[in-house]
Amino acid sequence: MSKDNRTGRRDILKAGALLGAAAPLALSPLGARAAEDAPATVIPTPSVTTLPVVGSDARFPVRRIYCVGRNYLEHIREMGNDERLPPFFFAKHRDMIVQNGETVIYPTLTHDYQHEIELVVAMKSGGENIPVEEALSHVYGYAVGLDMTRRDLQIASRSIERPWEIGKSFEQSAPCAAITPVEQSGHLSNGHIYLSVNGEMRQDADLDLLIWNVPEIISQLSKEVGIGAGDLIYTGTPAGVAAVVAGDVMIGGIEGLTELTITVGPRPDRA
Ligand code: MN
Repeated sequence: MSKDNRTGRRDILKAGALLGAAAPLALSPLGARAAEDAPATVIPTPSVTTLPVVGSDARFPVRRIYCVGRNYLEHIREMGNDERLPPFFFAKHRDMIVQNGETVIYPTLTHDYQHEIELVVAMKSGGENIPVEEALSHVYGYAVGLDMTRRDLQIASRSIERPWEIGKSFEQSAPCAAITPVEQSGHLSNGHIYLSVNGEMRQDADLDLLIWNVPEIISQLSKEVGIGAGDLIYTGTPAGVAAVVAGDVMIGGIEGLTELTITVGPRPDRA
């Protein structure tokens, strides 16, 4: 290799490094262009789950899903837990979301598959250590969700001091209805929250029974992890959780939001 060639190669590398450094800055405001110019992937890139938005043709892309444990006093009592302990968070994955109107397959490993109707907060922005008084400015909107739970596995893991993961984070465990933007719903601190199974009311409460309200939940979560645009926060369930079986139709709602309807499919042979 001649000296000239070496110099040429070095110049190209330098130019490439500059291009590499500059490219994300130049492309970041343009999501579509960034996607076109994204590096090649060795397997197909997994898709981002989205949810419908009330009054819009555009959808809400989901980043992370967090859920609050123990946020209504009567539910804490029905589960036999210490009501003085503060609520805490666990996570589900975005590809566990189920769209409104769909059927969920009865999950594997469990014989006690339970519903938990919840207010879901959809974030348009976030950060770390968000003060309570600023928390609501990061909310995009609200939706009705179900934190589906393999209760037998959750309780078994709890009793041997293992994480709740197996009881909470599994296929189709996070049904969620359309998101209503804050401009239409206002911020929700009270209102009827309910869930019926085959027309019979199982959970029937009011959002004003939340021990930690939405700004407090956001602020607390942001101390533990960075909250980002696209995050969903399931805010905990009121009393009345119970098992569902194949063929059951769950209809859940919150005053002012789109009602969620989910059917339970048959138990697979492998269960
Ligand atoms: Mn829950």
